[in-house]
Amino acid sequence: MIMQINFIDLERQQQRIEKEIAEAISRVLKKGQYIMGQECVDLEQQLAEYTGRKYCLGCANGTDAIRLALAALNIKKDDLVLTTNFTFFATSEVIAELGAIPIFVDIDETYNICPIDLERKILALKNSNKKIAGILSVDLFGLPAKHKDIDRLAKSYGLWHVEDAAQGFGGKIGNDSACSFGDISTTSFFPAKPLGCYGDGGAVFTDSLEVAEYIKSLRVHGKGTHKYENINIGYNSRLDTIQAAVLLEKIKIFDSEVDEKNKIAVRYSSALDGIDEIIVPKIPSGYTSSWAQYTLRVERREELMDYLKGEGIPTTIYYPKTMSQTKALNSFSKYQLGDLKNSIEFADSVLSLPMHAYLTDDEITHICNKILTFYSF
Ligand SMILES: *Cc1c(COP(=O)(O)O)cnc(C)c1O
Repeated sequence: MIMQINFIDLERQQQRIEKEIAEAISRVLKKGQYIMGQECVDLEQQLAEYTGRKYCLGCANGTDAIRLALAALNIKKDDLVLTTNFTFFATSEVIAELGAIPIFVDIDETYNICPIDLERKILALKNSNKKIAGILSVDLFGLPAKHKDIDRLAKSYGLWHVEDAAQGFGGKIGNDSACSFGDISTTSFFPAKPLGCYGDGGAVFTDSLEVAEYIKSLRVHGKGTHKYENINIGYNSRLDTIQAAVLLEKIKIFDSEVDEKNKIAVRYSSALDGIDEIIVPKIPSGYTSSWAQYTLRVERREELMDYLKGEGIPTTIYYPKTMSQTKALNSFSKYQLGDLKNSIEFADSVLSLPMHAYLTDDEITHICNKILTFYSF
């Protein structure tokens, strides 16, 4: 019989905290404050403490979190925003939707924005007298981007820096947590993200009281001190109380899940590192990933995927196309500078393996053995 493995196993997680979640939801139902209730306030406080930020503000989803962050920085039409070419579409989508222009930067072997290419592009734009607004970095697959370098560049060239940590929550550089880098950080609570709820949700983080107050207004139709005194053009982007209640239970087991995933990543990497056709993910020293994905670069990718599928092992390609290669963002190609070699090359060979805190030893062994078998042919 074939062992069927889940790519992400939210069912096993749910079994662990079933009772707590049911009680938490039932408390919300009884109190009847379904949007921005007390649980939302408690969650914001806990997440601010967890990340080391002064302010956390819940919102409707991770895409809105980026939108609120860029709106709070007063992004304008035709502003230039430097961002990674290798990410989930939402990152660049928001830039374009707000009328700004994404300038794509290549990645390095960590899959995150390359600080060398970033500086090269900043200088090229400066030299042609183009005004840059800011940098939107991404913590891809759970690994924080090289934020010390990015923050240094942002500071020395007078740019803002927003950290899209939709996949990065729980990651660290030394003792500094994801969602603490740059001027504003954002995250997503989409179920499959490192810290997921049971629906859509997101949050924005900042140390600036002014930005926090502005986002509080923007997320509720630009409200002033009173709900019906509107002082800004904003959005409807609030967090549901039930989702906050779910997250308050999930945050209690979150660190143990990240630890578990780190152990699994070590097991994967030590078993697969010796295979010539495979490059295992690189975590720079001092960095901790929260392993939103465990992503290899492989040869004969499609063949391997088919073979593993037949053995009950699901795999996914994150991401088959870079931002510059999407039809939707094609109109920005005239603004691009230099090549985007790594990202375009990596998109052709990346493959993500099952990764969640509830993979058993037998399942991990099975996955590694099947990959070893495939490449021994
Ligand atoms: C998931 C994701 C988003 C968007 O989050 P949603 O909650 O789905 O809107 C943004 N950026 C990245 C990198 C993501 O992975």
